[in-house]
Amino acid sequence: MIDMSQELRVGVDLGGTKMLAALVSLDGRILAKEERPTLAQEGEAAVINRLADMIDHLVSESTFSNKREHPGQLKGIGVATAGTLDAEKGIVTLAANLGWKDVQLGSLLEARFGCTVKLANDANAAAIGEWLAGAGKGTNDCLFVTISTGIGGGFISAGKPINGFNHNAGELGHITIDYNGPRCGCGNYGCLELYASGTAIGRRGADLVRQASSGASALIGLVQGNADEVTARHVAEAAAAGDSEANAVLTEAGRALGFGMVSILHLINPEVVVLGGGASLIGAPLLDPMMQVIEERAIASIRRPVRFVPSALGSAAGAVGAAMMLVKGKVVTE
Ligand SMILES: [Zn+2]
Repeated sequence: MIDMSQELRVGVDLGGTKMLAALVSLDGRILAKEERPTLAQEGEAAVINRLADMIDHLVSESTFSNKREHPGQLKGIGVATAGTLDAEKGIVTLAANLGWKDVQLGSLLEARFGCTVKLANDANAAAIGEWLAGAGKGTNDCLFVTISTGIGGGFISAGKPINGFNHNAGELGHITIDYNGPRCGCGNYGCLELYASGTAIGRRGADLVRQASSGASALIGLVQGNADEVTARHVAEAAAAGDSEANAVLTEAGRALGFGMVSILHLINPEVVVLGGGASLIGAPLLDPMMQVIEERAIASIRRPVRFVPSALGSAAGAVGAAMMLVKGKVVTE
């Protein structure tokens, strides 16, 4: 049971399909956590209510108390979310996955809980979580890359998280891989995530099913010939079952990741690279080709010392990082 005199900090990762809240200790340990569906289609008021109820439940369950009996104990709430933010004002300016525009999430939660609320970009928060309490712990120059629906990330340089002028740094998925490539949703062309995200892997897999490719019989079997159902997970399963074409899709995606990573490594010269996100769990069939490109192309003095490690916190990294942003002295807070 949690020490009642302890100041409690809650970190939340608010995603398009689910939201995760964690009660986090000063040194970044998860004391308790809870997950609920986001159900964004019900509208922002319903989502914020469900989020607040989850935080209430988490805090009261974990302490045998509630905020009315111990109004001072919840010290702060950090919320990691996708999309663009006005972090100073606590406003989610645009979150396509939630269908939100100019939502005053910070002030709504502050009014309900009477504590500090901070918003952060989800990938930047995950980078802070992995750096302070996960696979990048103990380093000063840590890069976090998440490979899932899209590709994102965040990084810490000389012991400081780099947010950029208006908190938009770390858009790793939108560095150019092919300047003659297709248009990306961001407005640029040939972005990394068009080639190497889970979505991109699924799309290439769907093409194989549509072409009824002979080297993808396991993949075709997995989705019973239905191309619209193909996900990156199916492609990985089919490659493991011996599909040569499915394996080639992963090799190409991995090489694209490698080209992107070479640029990123050259720019920031990290000590450790933490790889997270669902598609990173595909492992060697995706990551070996990435490492091979890095080996062939990255400047040796930058490449040689880098350690590549899997995420230690998994889907909780964003929530842990968001909570750690509330700890003075860990991450610069005003
Ligand atoms: Zn883009």
